[in-house]
Amino acid sequence: MLQCPYEQAHLIRPERMQIHLIKCERQHKNVKLLKCMFNYSHHIKPEDYAEHLRLCDDRRLIETSLYLLEGEVARGIGKPSSTTGATTGVMDPQTKQAVWGEENWDDMNEAPYDPEKHCLENKIIRKARLLTKAEKREFYKAESQRHDELAKRTAQ
Ligand SMILES: [Zn+2]
Ligand SMILES: [Zn+2]
Repeated sequence: MLQCPYEQAHLIRPERMQIHLIKCERQHKNVKLLKCMFNYSHHIKPEDYAEHLRLCDDRRLIETSLYLLEGEVARGIGKPSSTTGATTGVMDPQTKQAVWGEENWDDMNEAPYDPEKHCLENKIIRKARLLTKAEKREFYKAESQRHDELAKRTAQ
């Protein structure tokens, strides 16, 4: 059982946590937690967010593609050209939440194009949607801290 970040008394099975968090977040509008960009079911206190991003177990899973994406976005590949229509309501917190939480793969069955490429585009869109300015700032802060630590370690 995992402890709900909104309410200590809530003990939730890991597989139910994501659904629980969506509901519990609505019931605790006064509690402002940031979502981990690597795993939507990590809701983090703002003061712990940078630290969490550095330590999150899930970052390894998508770290490679994330770095790749920085380059792709810079080259303009992440432009809203996909057929998923996923570019609507980009900054709407509700939409953001619904899309991220549902893992809706139905869209992918429509067009017979390179699934790997689509997956990449999909991640770009998600990343762009997920990050607010503050979150980006925290992410880059966490990144530079991490790089500093790596540099220190290799220097020893
Ligand atoms: Zn809860
Ligand atoms: Zn996380």
